[in-house]
Amino acid sequence: MRFGTLGGRLVLVADGRALDVATASGGALPSGARAALARWDEVRAWAPTADRSGAVSVTEAELGPPVPDPRQVFAVALNYRPHAAEAGFTPPDAPLVFTKFPSCVTGPVTTVALPPGNVDWEIEVVAVIGAGGHRIPRAAAWDAIAGLTCGQDLSERLTQSQGRPAQFSLGKSFPGFGPTGPVAVTPDAFPDRDDIRFESTLLNGSTSETLQSGRTGDMIFPIDDLVARISAICPLLPGDLIFTGTPAGVGNRRTPPRFLRPGETLISRLDGVGELRQTFAQGPR
Ligand code: ZN
Repeated sequence: MRFGTLGGRLVLVADGRALDVATASGGALPSGARAALARWDEVRAWAPTADRSGAVSVTEAELGPPVPDPRQVFAVALNYRPHAAEAGFTPPDAPLVFTKFPSCVTGPVTTVALPPGNVDWEIEVVAVIGAGGHRIPRAAAWDAIAGLTCGQDLSERLTQSQGRPAQFSLGKSFPGFGPTGPVAVTPDAFPDRDDIRFESTLLNGSTSETLQSGRTGDMIFPIDDLVARISAICPLLPGDLIFTGTPAGVGNRRTPPRFLRPGETLISRLDGVGELRQTFAQGPR
């Protein structure tokens, strides 16, 4: 099952059409994503029986973020060995968790104003939490995930590395730095929920370059392990997001470093989910 938001309301998406959950359920289910995710078992039980006659045609550009207003957005650094190596670190013993402040979350197709500094790409798989919970055992973690979506953990590297010790969260939270979507897909809909392929491409005029490619099977801390370890400390709330880490190939580890420029478009594609499209514009200097 594929779900997202249209005009801030939760929709089921199939065959290019969006079905409004609250309307199609006759008001039995809520319209907001977080409220519906809090009652995710009910949404899942209702969906196969839903009357789809009211579904409307929709394009990916019209969809909003799967969760427009998450209360907690966790993100994980160095969760792929080659990326840890390119960043000059040994693989961590426990997940390195920071936050992308929720105001940076957007939908799948956006224009992002580049702040001063060095803005870099990080394609990531993002887990969308259903009803949530505290101290979720790893064996129950997949059941706590309502869906997986594609994300970009856009990062301004000067802000990120400013200070001693450095702080990650602000440099990763400029407006528009958390695109997600175009839909979230329930884990049962993937051929193998533990090994999903993804890839990002940079378009600049007529040239196209693959930036990063990876698969979730290569994670140091797999998605269900992250849910267990994070929820061991923070209770997970309905609609929370977990950005699960990026593989090798970020711009600031290239020789010479390479960052996003005005006029370029970043395409991020997650198998079974779809793609994000971010175009970059010159922001205020
Ligand atoms: Zn990241």
